[in-house]
Amino acid sequence: MGSVQIVTTILAAAITAVAVWLAVRAVLKMVAVIRLGQPAPERFTDKAARARTMLVETAGHTRMLKWGVVGAAHWFVMVGFVVLSLLVLEAYFEVVTPTGGLPIIGHWTIFGLATEIITVLGLVGILVLMVIRLRNRPTRPGGRSRFTGSTMWQGYFVEWIVLLVLIFGLVIRGFKVATDHFEYPLWATPVSHAVGAVLPDWSDGASVAALIKIAISMTWLIVISLNVTMGVAWHRFLAFPNIFFKREPARPAGSGLGALRPMTSQGKPLDFEEADPEKDQFGVAHVEQFSWKGLLDFSTCTECGRCQSQCPAWNTGKPLSPKLLVLSLRDHAYAKAPYLLAGGGKDLTGEEKATQAQLAHLDVLSLAEGDKPLIGDAESGGVIDPDVLWSCTTCGACVEQCPVDIEHVDHIVDMRRYQVLIESSFPSEAGVMLRNLENKGNPWGAPQNTREDWTKGLDFEVPRVGEVDDFEYLFWVGCAGAFEDRAKKTTRAVATLLNEAGVKFAILGEGETCSGDPARRIGNEFVFQMLAQQNVETLNEAFEGREKAKRKIVATCPHCFNTLGNEYGQLGGEFEVVHHTQLLAHLVATGKLTPVQPVDGGVTYHDPCYLGRHNRIFAAPREVLGDAIAGDLTEMPRNSERSFCCGAGGARMWMEEKIGKRINVDRVEEAMATGAKTVAVGCPFCSTMLNDGVNGKGAGEQVEVIDVASVLLRSVKPEQPQGGRETAPVGG
Ligand code: SF4
Ligand code: SF4
Repeated sequence: MGSVQIVTTILAAAITAVAVWLAVRAVLKMVAVIRLGQPAPERFTDKAARARTMLVETAGHTRMLKWGVVGAAHWFVMVGFVVLSLLVLEAYFEVVTPTGGLPIIGHWTIFGLATEIITVLGLVGILVLMVIRLRNRPTRPGGRSRFTGSTMWQGYFVEWIVLLVLIFGLVIRGFKVATDHFEYPLWATPVSHAVGAVLPDWSDGASVAALIKIAISMTWLIVISLNVTMGVAWHRFLAFPNIFFKREPARPAGSGLGALRPMTSQGKPLDFEEADPEKDQFGVAHVEQFSWKGLLDFSTCTECGRCQSQCPAWNTGKPLSPKLLVLSLRDHAYAKAPYLLAGGGKDLTGEEKATQAQLAHLDVLSLAEGDKPLIGDAESGGVIDPDVLWSCTTCGACVEQCPVDIEHVDHIVDMRRYQVLIESSFPSEAGVMLRNLENKGNPWGAPQNTREDWTKGLDFEVPRVGEVDDFEYLFWVGCAGAFEDRAKKTTRAVATLLNEAGVKFAILGEGETCSGDPARRIGNEFVFQMLAQQNVETLNEAFEGREKAKRKIVATCPHCFNTLGNEYGQLGGEFEVVHHTQLLAHLVATGKLTPVQPVDGGVTYHDPCYLGRHNRIFAAPREVLGDAIAGDLTEMPRNSERSFCCGAGGARMWMEEKIGKRINVDRVEEAMATGAKTVAVGCPFCSTMLNDGVNGKGAGEQVEVIDVASVLLRSVKPEQPQGGRETAPVGG
């Protein structure tokens, strides 16, 4: 070993020892913080599906590739990081001897070829990512950036490290070429040979370049170890467990959405008949009351801002950004951790758990962080502002886009649950809706004996469950479908089409009550369980003696559809629920309904969040429209998975929208820009919001917002009076 190699070896060993020591310390700290969370035993089920999903989502980059060029560039950088780690390892051989290399595989031409290709593609990939980050920097003139609020130096730092590590990999090889110690042929490593052609014949060059490569890599490790909240770097490791432990591992690729998680205490679902707020945790009041998976979520955020760029609240000037919410929770959790790890924290009655002696050694910042309310305005020093919490429509766009499967909606609803159930703190206007649900079983407070009024004037009988036994579908009308004037037209259209197609169906009539969706999304799990249990009992009775496949329900409201189909199972109600657009598409496809007169004038379709993103039903409504309209459907720029919310979900329908631009107006402008005369919807809430938006723009005469079923009815029975445009005001 020459004198240069003695120096390079000692320096490489020294910086590596420091980096590894700091990294171990950082990992232990992160594990300790994540373990502060509540148990989540359900995350350990179905390990095969979890492993499969993790592999598909990481190796296949299923989320990132939706972003086109940036997804492909990131894939090459990821593969480069994994494979080229071997070249960092090889550098340890090269600091010892400039002609050294990895044992065995380091002599294979195929290894030389593969690493050459990955190096070049990795270089292209990282340069693309650097350009994209620069072009989207928050400080650029004009426009909103998905990086607004991200810690930009961290992103630049990581990108420069990747770039330099790749470049020095080629420089090491180049020195080996220049000194004639390179094993791989020109055809397998042309770029390395080209670099070698311009480098001097310096025998120690490879060792010195290897030391620089190791120093760069270890600098990266030291910096990220000193910054445990640097998700842009740590996600390289944390993304794997975060995706493995996602909430619904078996759901179709790409979706981390699904049923809302039940309210849990100590990892067990809460039953309100036994729950005690002095013994059980009701929602989340402190950051350590999230599950460990929640804390893992916060640690994994890469600050990429894809969630933010799709969020309807953020895009209309509200203070909510799902990214900034996650970052606030992450920073708070790590800042509060020393206090919690010292035994601090509040018990369920609000008393401090630690003794003075336990907290004596803590610095004031940790103690101050421990005192911060989780929800509170700037004056009270809260971590999350109430306006942030209540701006969410639970549309799921953030979850859909997040490349590392962070579950924003669950975290938001968990915080709402505590605010509603324990603090009674929520937008006051929503109180009327909750009282109506408790007292009348519907959000509008309409008398229960008017639930069947929509059937008046139909030229056929609508049977009730109990009057007939041989119904195939139970038609779940929903509160909007029964009480809201526009939605009643949809209900009548669906019933007419089912009758026309000879489908045997029956309704519950006065036996139906609200599905509980608005109560659950606002955070009132108590009212949700009350309504849901009542409905599950009624439905189980209606389907008594039938196997699950024959317990068929058709619903016109995607919120009911989602709650009955995905969430009633949590309370013992297992049903086969379809949305009316699915059933209508089937009836048209099987020739039971025949569109005869195409609806013209141009039609666009607005995907309801709880039908599309939450339940992945994108095709059925489009198939129905495709059969019923003249020409092709005109898509809005934001459609299908990337559809933009109407603003009504998450119980926002019953809250005032006081901040920023109205979400429904933003969506209506997009719909109107297509030039379509008809905006088809598949949800009564979307119908209300978009109608209001159209009327607010004074375009009620030019643009009509109607349900897909009404479009189909016009085509199937053009002679039938349609009851006018669906522009009646909301009413009970
Ligand atoms: S669910 Fe929708 S509104 Fe709520 S934070 Fe996510 S993107 Fe924004
Ligand atoms: S939550 Fe997900 S999508 Fe949003 S910034 Fe973090 S990693 Fe990106």
